Amino acid sequence: MSLDGGIRLSYDVLVVATGARLLPEETEGLTGPGWGENVFTFYDLPGAVGLHHALERFDGGRVVVDVADLPVKCPVAPLEFAFLADWYFQRCGIRDKVRLTYATPLDAAFTKPVAAKALGGLLAEKGIELVTEFTLGEVDGPGGRLVSYDEREVPFDLAVVVPLHGGAEYVGRSDGLGDELDFVPVDPRTLQLPSHPEVFAIGDAAGLPASKAGSVAHFEAGTLVHNIGRFVAGQPLDASYDGHANCFVETGFHKALLIDFNYETEPLPGHYPGPVGLPLLRARRRRPDHLHLRCRNAARLRSTSHRDGVVSRE
Ligand SMILES: Cc1cc2nc3c(=O)[nH]c(=O)nc-3n(C[C@H](O)[C@H](O)[C@H](O)COP(=O)(O)OP(=O)(O)OC[C@H]3O[C@@H](n4cnc5c(N)ncnc54)[C@H](O)[C@@H]3O)c2cc1C
Repeated sequence: MSLDGGIRLSYDVLVVATGARLLPEETEGLTGPGWGENVFTFYDLPGAVGLHHALERFDGGRVVVDVADLPVKCPVAPLEFAFLADWYFQRCGIRDKVRLTYATPLDAAFTKPVAAKALGGLLAEKGIELVTEFTLGEVDGPGGRLVSYDEREVPFDLAVVVPLHGGAEYVGRSDGLGDELDFVPVDPRTLQLPSHPEVFAIGDAAGLPASKAGSVAHFEAGTLVHNIGRFVAGQPLDASYDGHANCFVETGFHKALLIDFNYETEPLPGHYPGPVGLPLLRARRRRPDHLHLRCRNAARLRSTSHRDGVVSRE
């Protein structure tokens, strides 16, 4: 492999762990007029900072949270944003002036049917409109319109878009390493690239039917380390990665839920760690909230009656 500066390295085993990158320029109009003004992403730092200020100024209108296309990092993060936006606007006292919409290319709020029903139910409970099978084709910032490939439109005053993701550019430049989005299409259970047995991938860089989440990289690591040892020793690899992923989903008002699933088992309703109704986590937070946004009129901030700092199940 070649590094910047002309350094060349040889290897017996290569592990690709260079994550995913955002490709907002792949969607027509997304980075055009309106980008950073009424169209934002919170998936990178400049976008999140810009959105923070826009939310502080916002005093009503239509807010659309849109997932442009899949796969994206942390597929529940956009849902969390919508739940927390509902919470934030309630705290600001302007929820009745805000129409919140969640638009997704999926046919439901989430991929797995049971979780999709639960998360879709939460959206409905919170008065967040769900628009499904909406794959983003074009963004018209000045006109305040998101347009799907099948030419449906969702109007907005403030759009929060999660752009298309791809793997690292060098993966695309390296012969036979990447798929059409520059992710490395490794075997979903061994994490080895079938066409180049000396290559493995972990985390977001891997093109797997698993979520792009930190928890996935964590669960993949055991299989990866074990299989590198077996590969070097000339032994058959273990097909032991089962697609395990879990995600905590913040749902606002200091509540959260946990979804835990793998290739075969979708998240099922229940209690964790046991059926006795204990709070999932009892971590005390010093800061009351993740979002420290000032509303336009700070006096509008309502005090909430939740138990401060306790994360409990929804
Ligand atoms: C808003 C948001 C919320 C999230 N919430 C959660 C959550 O609650 N739980 C969860 O489990 N996951 C969450 N995730 C997903 C999680 O952050 C990623 O899945 C995780 O960071 C992937 O780890 P990774 O090591 O594969 O990739 P990364 O963390 O992206 O690391 C890849 C590294 O490779 C570097 N790199 C890239 N190209 C090159 C190159 N050519 N040369 C050298 N270095 C390079 C990058 O700079 C980067 O440092 C969230 C993501 C986002 C965006």
